[in-house]
Amino acid sequence: MKREADQVGPEGRQGLAVLGATGSIGVSTLKVVALHPDRFEVVALSAYQRIEELGALCRTWRPAIAVTHAPEAAEALARSLAAEGTEVWSGPEALERAVCDPRVTTVVCGIVGAAGLKSAWAAVAAGKRVLFANKEPLVMSGHLLLALARESGAELLPLDSEHNAVFQCLPPGRPGLVQSGVRRILLTCSGGPFRNTPASEFARVTPEQACAHPRWSMGRKISVDSATLMNKGLELIEACRLFEARPEQVDVVIHPQSVIHSLVEYVDGSVLAQLGNPDMRTPIAHALGFPDRIEAGVARLDLASVGRLDFEEPDEARFPCLGLARAAAIAGGSAPTVLNAANEVAVEAFLARTLPFAAIPTVIESVLAMRPVVAVESLEAILEEDRRARDAAREAVIAQGAKGVWAC
Ligand code: NAD
Ligand code: MG
Repeated sequence: MKREADQVGPEGRQGLAVLGATGSIGVSTLKVVALHPDRFEVVALSAYQRIEELGALCRTWRPAIAVTHAPEAAEALARSLAAEGTEVWSGPEALERAVCDPRVTTVVCGIVGAAGLKSAWAAVAAGKRVLFANKEPLVMSGHLLLALARESGAELLPLDSEHNAVFQCLPPGRPGLVQSGVRRILLTCSGGPFRNTPASEFARVTPEQACAHPRWSMGRKISVDSATLMNKGLELIEACRLFEARPEQVDVVIHPQSVIHSLVEYVDGSVLAQLGNPDMRTPIAHALGFPDRIEAGVARLDLASVGRLDFEEPDEARFPCLGLARAAAIAGGSAPTVLNAANEVAVEAFLARTLPFAAIPTVIESVLAMRPVVAVESLEAILEEDRRARDAAREAVIAQGAKGVWAC
C-alpha cells in the first residue's frame, strides 16, 4: 500500500490521468471530478479517436498532457491547443510515458479492451494509485499485476460496479478471503437485452439491438459483452484476479433491476450487499475518494419506487459465454488471455456485421480448443498469447463467414 503522502499531486491534490477520457467511463469520471476541484487536478487525458472531443475536454480541463494515437491527429490537436499549454503526445509509448509522469498520482484506466494493457502495466509498475474500469488487462494478466503492485507499492482499486461493490463488502485491509471468513462472492448480472429472448432469435440480432442495454449506458464493446453474458464471464475472472478467489468461490445471479451491485457471503451465513442506482459515478466516486466518501452527483436510491428485487439463475445453455469464461478461469495459465482475445475479435466482427451474434461463442470455443494452455509469467508471454489467439480467432471468423451463417 502507498503511504497517503505519496498520493498527493499538484497543489496537494490527486493528479489524475484519465485514459479513455472520451468514453463512457472517462466522461463519468470527469463528471465526478468536476464536483471536487479541491481534491483533483487533471494532469493527463487520452483518447484514440474523436479527437475534436478530446480537444474540447482539453479546453475545459487544461491538462498538462493529452495523448492520442495517430501523429497527424496529435499535430493538429497540438496546434489547436497552443494557447492552453497542453502538450500533445502520440506514438506507441506515449500512454506509458503519460501515466509515469511524476505529476500523475492516480490513473483511471478507462480504455476498452487489451489496448489498455501496457498503460495499465506501466501505471502499476510506477507505483501509482490505479483505478481499473478496463477489465481486460486484469483478465489477461491480473495475477502478474497484483504481484507487480506488491513490489511497486501501487494501489489497485476496482471501478467495475460489481467489483467495487465486493470491495466495499469485504473487511478493510483485505487479509485474504479465507482469513476474512468469506465463503463466496456473488456477482449480480442484469441479464442484458436478451434475458428473455429465445436462442432461436439470436441469429438475427443486430449490433443496434445488442448495444441497447436495458439498465446501463456503456461503450459498444462492453454492451455486446453484456448481451452475450461474456461481460459477466470476464467479471468472474476479474473477481478471481482482484480478490485472489478460486473460480468456485465466485457465483453469478441474474438481478434485472441492477440495484444490488454484488454480494459477499460469509461463513456465519451473513450476506453483505452494496446497493445503489445503476450509475457508474457511484463506484467511480468511491474509488476516487477512497478511503473518504465523496459526492458523486447521482440520484438517491428510492427503494419504494424500485418496488421489488428479483433474482434468477443464469441460463448457460442460451448464453454459453459464461460457461466458457468459467472453464478458462479453472484452466488458468494462458486460457483467460486466449478467451479475451477471441472475444474481442468476435465482437469486433459482429459489430462490423461480418459475424452473427449467435456465432460469437462458437468462435471463442473453437479458439480455446485450438490453443494449448501454457503458463504466462511475463507481459511478453501475455502479448504473444494474445497475438496468436487473435490470429486464430480471425481465421475462425472467416470460417464462420464461409459457412454463410450471417443473415442480418
Ligand atoms: P468506450 O468505448 O465508451 O470508451 C473507450 C475509450 O477508450 C475511448 O476514450 C477511446 O478513445 C479509448 N480507446 C479505444 N480504443 C483504444 C486504443 N486502441 N488505444 C487507446 N485508447 C483507446 O468504453 P467504456 O464503456 O467507457 O469502457 C471502457 C472500459 O471500462 C472497458 O474495459 C469496459 O469493460 C470497462 N467498464 C465500462 C463500464 C461502463 O459503464 N461503460 C462499466 C464497467 C467497466
Ligand atoms: Mg460490471
